[in-house]
Amino acid sequence: MTARILIVDDLAASVKVLAAKLTSEYYDVITAHDGPTALETLGRELPDLILLDVMMPGMDGFEVCRRVKKTPRTAHIPVVMVTALNDMRDRVSGLQAGADDFLTKPLNDTMLFARVRSLVRMKRTFDQWSLHQQTSRDLGFNVDQDLSDFNSRGARIVVVDTSEIQSGNIKDVLERDGHAVTVLNSYGEAAGNIAEDLPDVVVVSMDFEGDEPLRLASRLRSQEPTRQVPILLIGDAEDETNLIKGLELGVNDCVVRPVDEQEIVARVRTQVRRKRYQEMLQSSFQQHLALALTDGLTGLHNRRYLESHLDGIVKRAGDGGHGLSLLLIDLDHFKRVNDTYGHAAGDEVLRTVARRMLRNVRGFDTAARFGGEEFVVAMPDTPLDIAYSVADRIRTKVAEEPVALPDGRQISVTLSAGVAVSSNPGESVADLIERADKALYMAKHDGRDRVVRADPPAGRQTETADD
Ligand code: GH3
Ligand code: MG
Ligand code: MG
Repeated sequence: MTARILIVDDLAASVKVLAAKLTSEYYDVITAHDGPTALETLGRELPDLILLDVMMPGMDGFEVCRRVKKTPRTAHIPVVMVTALNDMRDRVSGLQAGADDFLTKPLNDTMLFARVRSLVRMKRTFDQWSLHQQTSRDLGFNVDQDLSDFNSRGARIVVVDTSEIQSGNIKDVLERDGHAVTVLNSYGEAAGNIAEDLPDVVVVSMDFEGDEPLRLASRLRSQEPTRQVPILLIGDAEDETNLIKGLELGVNDCVVRPVDEQEIVARVRTQVRRKRYQEMLQSSFQQHLALALTDGLTGLHNRRYLESHLDGIVKRAGDGGHGLSLLLIDLDHFKRVNDTYGHAAGDEVLRTVARRMLRNVRGFDTAARFGGEEFVVAMPDTPLDIAYSVADRIRTKVAEEPVALPDGRQISVTLSAGVAVSSNPGESVADLIERADKALYMAKHDGRDRVVRADPPAGRQTETADD
């Protein structure tokens, strides 16, 4: 997985060493020698990761990080702070500035690559969601929330640790930060419990030798319901090999003991905020997709949905069966309804007709609003005579009971319909609609309030369409 990495450091020698290491792993490296230059670079290009020196003259690393994280364009880019000393205060200030991780000079290569890989993977996931966000924008929706708009309060957290004292301490710290914490003291049962009642973050503490904690992490990653739950691993400095294995398994973050309160608080907050942001992206995208394919007035599918859906049905109908039947329905003299009762009353009529239509078709039939006062019902695997009777039932249901307006007025409406069945093999959707439309035209021409069956396509005769 190649990625572009921005290295920011005032010491040319440090930049050179780091760049050489990353280039040897096929990363694409860009560099900046101070904060302002880094920010300027970010105005031009967006890397997948930023390695940021803390101590720089002028604008220090914390300030650069704060600005990166405050700018919507760059807020999602992971930032790793590189500190000269393993100074706890630095780590905490960095996390509070929004940093995603820390590395201490001199850099340990294995840890460096493990962290970089893990953060780049996370960034890739976000990139996918950003693409969806762009699609939502293209569909005309407003999507301007970014990561920094999400808070990290009141999360549900599970801590897995066989030591009661240790897990109790972590619980206290996280509860003081406003989270609801559950402790599980056995790795064996944890995966099941977590899957049943999904928390926002799982903290797995590696407190003895053996591979149970990593096995748990791996199980959480591989089973469907917990695949997306953020996992934070806690281990001893001597456990580094296992921490690195954890990152390779897809653990989101690691904390090395002794655990600093503020550090774990900050890291948990980062995970919570990311998860909430991602969930918002996911659900708003699904909502936007649904809205983009739904008619706002009637709640039926819209034409865009119908057309892409029909392509699929027609291809399948080619495999045999009764073929696809299509009803094209048009309200009679609807212009008069608007002229007599007003546009709002017309809308109410459309809603009512849509409801009656839906009540008279099967669950797998597709009812859509095709245009102003035109509707389509697509009925897969349905012969023409059945489709005709469905259409006629809808016609009757609409004609026999006037639409009641909220103000008590009643409007009688009728409709006309054309019915066509796709001919096997391979009639195009457009041709099928055109035949139904011709039949609809005949229904109008013959006096309205009726259903007419379409002729089979020219040059073809089928048993079900012989009148
Ligand atoms: P015909 O029996 O020949 O179909 O006559 P018609 O009046 O129904 O047909 P025409 O196509 O002349 O008029 C359709 C009318 O439907 C005109 C338009 O104002 C109205 N219409 C289209 N969309 C809407 C809508 O969303 N709400 C309302 N209230 N009216 C609509
Ligand atoms: Mg009409
Ligand atoms: Mg019309």
